[in-house]
Amino acid sequence: MQPIDLPSPNHAARPAGGPIDILVLHYTELPLEESLAILRDDGTAQRVSAHYVLDLDGTPYHLVPEERAAWHAGRSHWRGRDALNATSIGIEIVNLHGDLHDYPTRQIEALIELCHDIVARHPAIASRNVVGHSDIAPKRKIDPGRRFPWAVLAQSGIGLWPREARGKLEGDVQAALQRFGYSPAVEVETADIIAAFQRRFRPNLVDGIADDETRGLLADLLDQIGCAP
Ligand SMILES: [Zn+2]
Repeated sequence: MQPIDLPSPNHAARPAGGPIDILVLHYTELPLEESLAILRDDGTAQRVSAHYVLDLDGTPYHLVPEERAAWHAGRSHWRGRDALNATSIGIEIVNLHGDLHDYPTRQIEALIELCHDIVARHPAIASRNVVGHSDIAPKRKIDPGRRFPWAVLAQSGIGLWPREARGKLEGDVQAALQRFGYSPAVEVETADIIAAFQRRFRPNLVDGIADDETRGLLADLLDQIGCAP
């Protein structure tokens, strides 16, 4: 579906020559109209925006041109890089709380179509760089939430999902999480990063403990991206 243009004034130039290689998924926490109002408001102290907003019924809205930086990620870290607004595209998906409310099938089908379009325009967005806000801001953010269907997206070629917890991770879990992409940050403990990983890849038990299943899932994901576990 062709997105509906609803321009937001909240954007900035990207650094010259910088790649666009990360796709960040969020939930809005608010209904559509309120979300659009906030993401298009230039009068507040904390101006925010996203490139796209996706309504519950799958209608996509286009707020910020992809070649400009939108303000959706805040303090954020992935694969050793910080402040990811500069190099990312952000999609806000309408959902009041992604731990509590399922994402409708129509909305996810529309999201998959939108993601494929974005990745086609920006082939530097590798599967491992399709992330949730909670992946790039552990402890601070929990969106898109435990009910977000990452496995469905991965089946459609968007992002990654563990094949099975068959791997065995020897050694330091923190170093392994970092090889995958989770980056250390001030006031973020290893347990917070393990919890962010679980929130994404084992949502039925998020306790921050690197148990055998968690380590196995991580080992498989590292295998998928060609890193030794
Ligand atoms: Zn977010």
